[in-house]
Amino acid sequence: MTEDLKLFNELVEQLLTQEKENPVARPIDTDKLYQTLDLELNEEPSIDEDFKDTLTKIIKSTPKTASTSFFNQLFGGRLSRATLGDLLAVMLNNSMYTYKVAGPQVGIEKTILHKICDIIGYGEHSDGTFVPGGSMSNYMAMLMARDKYDAAIRETGVQTKMVIYTSETSHYSIAKNASFMGIGRNQVRFVKIDHLGKMRVDDLEDKVQKDLKEGSHPFFVNATSGTTVLGAFDDISSISKVCKKHKLWLHVDGAYCGSVIFSEQYKFLVKGLELSDSFSVNAHKMLGTPLTCSIIVTQDKKYLYQSFSNEAEYLYQTDDDEFNLGKISMQCGRRNDALKLWTLWKSVGTKGLENIVDKQFELADIARNYIRNHSDYTLYSFDDSISVCFNYKNIPAKKLCTLLYEHSALMVGFGTFENNEFVRLVTINSLLNEKDILNFFYTLEEFVNHHDFK
Ligand SMILES: *Cc1c(COP(=O)(O)O)cnc(C)c1O
Repeated sequence: MTEDLKLFNELVEQLLTQEKENPVARPIDTDKLYQTLDLELNEEPSIDEDFKDTLTKIIKSTPKTASTSFFNQLFGGRLSRATLGDLLAVMLNNSMYTYKVAGPQVGIEKTILHKICDIIGYGEHSDGTFVPGGSMSNYMAMLMARDKYDAAIRETGVQTKMVIYTSETSHYSIAKNASFMGIGRNQVRFVKIDHLGKMRVDDLEDKVQKDLKEGSHPFFVNATSGTTVLGAFDDISSISKVCKKHKLWLHVDGAYCGSVIFSEQYKFLVKGLELSDSFSVNAHKMLGTPLTCSIIVTQDKKYLYQSFSNEAEYLYQTDDDEFNLGKISMQCGRRNDALKLWTLWKSVGTKGLENIVDKQFELADIARNYIRNHSDYTLYSFDDSISVCFNYKNIPAKKLCTLLYEHSALMVGFGTFENNEFVRLVTINSLLNEKDILNFFYTLEEFVNHHDFK
């Protein structure tokens, strides 16, 4: 192990240098990938220098998500205290299903979950778990809601037309999960959005009424805190009124921006969160931990047990349920995703998490100001969002983003809303500064100057 740790340190040093010197790795054409890199698995071992050489080349060509030129997705950067925690989790290699196997790591996971429940104002019966991603968090919420509506479904399967509501611009996992869970994609109603990308509560009420009239069974509403493209926040309080009236489970998908719960200044964006039945957040997005770090919490833990516990004598041999986390998780063996968030939180404090969140809004403000002050740009997104959507000189966004990537200039994605296609700059890397954001625009402008977009 010592030898490999030495190698690891060496490779990481290379990576850190690469990140600075070539922040956007030169992409390899997919049709040349297997000729360019030695990815083949052979009968004979690859040893020493050979092995190291191959790894070095792979690292060099791998996209650098922690560089100052990465704005492509809803994650980025590297907070070293969180990375430290994840590296330790790999070395410790516990499975989080029982206290016997995970020991104090169980306490670490529980401490985070209870603290988050406290912060959002969930009551004394609340609890949660770590999930392999935001899509799966939504899946767990939908399953708990389904089984709350009719616990017999666990044995009989879905027998009636059960209906799910989510906004047109919510994450695609809602529809996908509906197909997984036997509800069916056709039973997902996509509620209209207003001009700010928020769910229209009047349309939600109309759609529920219509389904009731037709004899269907509404049971679940998904509200989004930070929609994937625009970063819009649905109005939880108003949606909650419709849910209470019709006895529907309200889940808040905060995978992207649910971490605003840590910010005094921005928690108003999730006002009414304490009225929801469940809430999910990806710490690997706004909080900047390594992937994956997804959390779901629910007001009443009995629904976690109802949907996810299974007796297994070979597994649960000691300790009580509170410490045997396998009883409330989707998986059996489960990676320790809690430690990286704990090492971060412990080392920067809750105030530090607040700073991480606030910094992203600050960077987004800088970007929006720049755009508003330069007439070659058109802005499509709004304040209080860390997705800054714009066009430059009316150049088609898809073409611009693709060329920027192919020429190793910047990694940034594009999106669409109301027939507009635009560049989506995501200011989720809290380690960046004003100069990095300005540099983004300068790089883009210079690139456009030197390329023909006619
Ligand atoms: C990213 C995202 C998800 C999916 O999370 P994964 O961890 O990628 O599965 C779900 N909902 C929203 C709003 C997201 O932004």
